[in-house]
Amino acid sequence: MSELDREAERNVNPPRQQNPLLEAQGLVKHFPFRDSLGRARGAVRAVDGVSLSVPPGRVLAIVGESGCGKSTLGRLLLRLIEPDSGTLSFDGEDVLAMRPAALRAKRREMQLIFQDPFASLDPRMNVEAAITEPLILHRLHRGRERARVAELLERVGLRPELARRWPHEFSGGQRQRIAIARALASEPRLIIGDEPVSALDVSVQAQVVNLLGDLIRDLGLTFILISHDLGVVRQIADQVAVMYLGQIVEQGPAEQMFHNPRHPYTRALLAAVPGQRGPEGGALKLLEGDVPSPVAPPSGCRFHTRCPHVQAICRERAPILVGETQLAACHLQDSLPPATPIREAEADDRLARLQAYFRETTA
Ligand code: SF4
Repeated sequence: MSELDREAERNVNPPRQQNPLLEAQGLVKHFPFRDSLGRARGAVRAVDGVSLSVPPGRVLAIVGESGCGKSTLGRLLLRLIEPDSGTLSFDGEDVLAMRPAALRAKRREMQLIFQDPFASLDPRMNVEAAITEPLILHRLHRGRERARVAELLERVGLRPELARRWPHEFSGGQRQRIAIARALASEPRLIIGDEPVSALDVSVQAQVVNLLGDLIRDLGLTFILISHDLGVVRQIADQVAVMYLGQIVEQGPAEQMFHNPRHPYTRALLAAVPGQRGPEGGALKLLEGDVPSPVAPPSGCRFHTRCPHVQAICRERAPILVGETQLAACHLQDSLPPATPIREAEADDRLARLQAYFRETTA
């Protein structure tokens, strides 16, 4: 049995446990900013009280418009940036209490795949050196590093003899495969993919998504997918969390969310026809009204300035996430008319248009 097979068996058949692998409670991250004279002028409330948990072996997708705080949240979950407040645990251990050496050791189990594979690979390192580096850092497979590099390259669909080549010799899709192999080298239990395919040509996106889906299934990985691409989300996510202005407004099982969204923002995301332009051919509009500033978010429900169902209470009181398996933060969620079901035949088309909208507004 090869090392990869043993690794897969370990992960696919983890000890029975109900506890989440990753759990965050009330994470807050505000970025203060100053004017040209150095005077404090406020703070961007990038993440504002986010709680979530991911069981082992599951895929959670975090979705939302550009600037909603999802990438900041991803970095908080890996403690690449420090939260202002909140708690974070990995496999029951308090990540925020870890000292630098313990955190470095724990990072072996938590990896990040970036959007831009070229930026994440050092142009001065060939493929073998790039993948060997985490093996040496974490003292894995000592004495058989070269064989391990070959196994990892094969695992991501690349020929082992490409190990001596340099990043610039590969296409974008191949570079992302190398970045994935490097992330796998430390044998992580959790991977966070921050828009892992959005920088790739559409023609190769599907191949890399399929690869990620295979790895998640075969290695039993826990995966957090940060994405504006609901087509990708629909393909591989078990759970979805929708973010708006630094907060999660709806969270639940992916299929339930796609077929019966409860929060008006999620409904707008899925029901809008964002391929349409305004009368002057101007910017695409998903909803009426602009996204409010994260420096001074609206009072009460942050979505109230754009919500078609807004009531007086919405401007005064902030709703909290309520529900059993599918949670929504909306005062009126039980009295809203049922969501218009999306027919299966048109679901892909809608998601493709929504993806185009996000891509345009993210650019
Ligand atoms: Fe809309 Fe009010 Fe629900 Fe907010 S709380 S989403 S404003 S109905």
